[in-house]
This record gives sequence, C-alpha cells and structure tokens, in this order.
Amino acid sequence: MRYRIWLSPPHMGGGEMKYIEQAFSSNWIAPAGPNIVRFENELVQYTGGKYAVALASGTAAIHLALCALDISKGDIVLCQSLTFVATANPILYLGATPVFVDSEPATWNICPEALETAIRYYLIRNKKPKALICVHLYGMPCLMEDLLAVCYRYGIALIEDAAEALGSEYKRKQAGTFGEMGIISFNGNKIITTSGGGALLSDSKVLTDKARYFSTQSKDPTPYFQHSELGYNYAMSNVCAGIGRGQMEVLNERVAARRANFDLYSHYLKDVPGLSFQQEPDGAKSNRWLVSLQLTGNACALTPESIRLALSGKGVESRRVWKPMHLQPLYKIAPYFGGDVAEDLFENGICLPSGSQLTSEEVSEICEIIMETAQKQKSCS
Ligand SMILES: *Cc1c(COP(=O)(O)O)cnc(C)c1O
Repeated sequence: MRYRIWLSPPHMGGGEMKYIEQAFSSNWIAPAGPNIVRFENELVQYTGGKYAVALASGTAAIHLALCALDISKGDIVLCQSLTFVATANPILYLGATPVFVDSEPATWNICPEALETAIRYYLIRNKKPKALICVHLYGMPCLMEDLLAVCYRYGIALIEDAAEALGSEYKRKQAGTFGEMGIISFNGNKIITTSGGGALLSDSKVLTDKARYFSTQSKDPTPYFQHSELGYNYAMSNVCAGIGRGQMEVLNERVAARRANFDLYSHYLKDVPGLSFQQEPDGAKSNRWLVSLQLTGNACALTPESIRLALSGKGVESRRVWKPMHLQPLYKIAPYFGGDVAEDLFENGICLPSGSQLTSEEVSEICEIIMETAQKQKSCS
C-alpha cells in the first residue's frame, strides 16, 4: 500500500549530503570514522548527558545496555508492557526473564504503583529484579520523578527506552538521560533518522566503555584478535552517522513541527466527544513524535479500526496503539503486574499522521475524515 499521507516519514534537512560526501571523499565507508565521533559528540551536547555510543539500531542499544549491566540467564528485568516489541526482545536474547508492568492512563507509560507492587512481589521471594526498562511512549516522558524514586528505593538499574523521545524533556532534562542508560533509535520513521541506527546514552564511563567493547566483538587489547567474552557487531556506519549529523542540525525544528501538529489536532478535534490525547505530566515537554489519542466513547461511538479504515480509504496512514507485550503470543508465559490500562489503550487508541512535513491543510483534512466517521457512527444508534 502506498499512502498519500504517511504516519511518520523521513524528513531530510539538507545538510546530510555534505557529511555523506565527506565520508566518501575520505573513504571512511566503515563502521568507524570521523562522522561517528562527531555525531556522538553532538548527541552528548544536545542531550546534556556525558557519553553516547552510536550503534546499528535502537534494539542493539537496548541489548548492549542489558549486557553492560551484566544481565544474564534467569535475571528478572521489569519492562513496560505497552510498547513496541523491540523494547522487550533483548531481555529474551540474554535468557533473562521479562516481567511486564501496566501503564497509567495520563502518559500511557509505566505505572509507578504497579511497578512497586511487582518489585515487592519478587523481593519477598528473594528474587530482586535487576533492571527496569521504561519507555517514553510516542515521545511522552514517563513520570520520571516517581520512577526514579522507586528505582532508588529498591536499588534497581533504570534503562530508558527513549527510542521515540529524542528531544522530549522532563523538568528541563532530556529524555534518555535519567537512568543508568538511555537508548535512542534513528530508524526511518523516528523524529530524526540515519536510515537505520541507534545510540546508547549514559553518564557512566564504565557502562559506556563496556557497551562500546561489546559492540565491536569484545576484542581484548592484544595486537591479534583475542576474545574473552561474547561480543556483537553493532557499530554504526560512518555513512549513516553522516546522515545523523545533518539531521541533528534540524532536530529542534522537527520537535517544533511535531508539537505544532499536536496543537492543530487538538484544536480541530476539541468538540468531538470521547477523545482524549496522551497527556504531558507536570513539567514535561513531549516531542509529540506520534499524536496519539484514546476513544473513551459511548455505545455506538468511533473505534480505532473505523478511523483507521476511513483514513486508509482516503490514502492516509494511521496506526493502532502497540499491542501490550503481556498480550503477545511471544510473551504469553511472562508475568504481568497491573490492571487493564495498557489493554484499554490498545483497544481504544490510535496514532495519527505526525510527520514534520505535514501541512495544516492535511491535518484539517484528516480531522474532517475523523469527524465524518464519528457522524456516521452516531446515526447507527
Ligand atoms: C523504534 C523503537 C525501538 C527500536 O529501535 P530500532 O532502531 O528500530 O531497532 C525500540 N523501542 C521503541 C519504543 C521503538 O519505537
């Protein structure tokens, strides 16, 4: 299917080719080179963290974050249930045990109370969870103060999946810089892209060095290839890092454009009953990577599927909210703590086109289609 309006297409800034040409003219067509070093520095500067490692994907970054924390077989890793499967899969790569936790209804992110219940459940049984992966879903910052307090109280390492949240802030601090480690994705549909890629952020030199070492096959410091530990080939290419450098130049504009999309959607849809958007907690600023709303409707109201089909019929791509991990066939035996918030969001939520090149006419058209669908649905009662 080719759409006229995509959910979140790549948006080049214009500076990318210059850095790609530098890579070509210097023949750094490799998973090493000056673009990588500079891209990492630019990420550090932008986020205000201390260290960054550019990697092949966001998934690789999560995998290496868990490796750096020595997560291994049988360890419990707590994880937000409402997310993309890439958040949780690295737990299984390592043979660790994922334990999923529900969301809270305002931010749609992990519920601190349900989290604490899960932690206590395992502590009583002498199985202390080793790490938590929270997710800033669709760019919306988690309730960071509460989460950090819980992690601190029980001594649990926090990994922030900020794959969708580059440029989001909580109390003037960037998403991805709160936990022991944070990860970002530069996949094609994220707020900025390197065509494919990711990064790991941390204030710890020890953890960053470990992750970098694992990312290049865990080579010992010997003049020949000696390996004492299992490693991976997860480094970012210097060509991709060039795209990233060009994208960093326009990141603030991309955040502003997506936030403007959100303002327009909420303006046009304000009179449609039973719609509620993901909400910024106090002191938070979401990059509004994807504008996401929940239908809290009455008997014959809109459904996510009726909206998706109506939009698709007009060449507009939209997407259902992630199916929670605890409902996935892949994770059916994993423990789950919480209620039905994540499940409700899956059943009643939808993500609308949110690209940074979306025009106000397009937003208006999309809202018209949604309102027409609402009208039709009403008349069936
Ligand atoms: C995109 C995404 C990832 C994975 O990033 P890749 O670069 O595609 O591997 C992880 N978590 C979330 C929430 C994502 O949206």
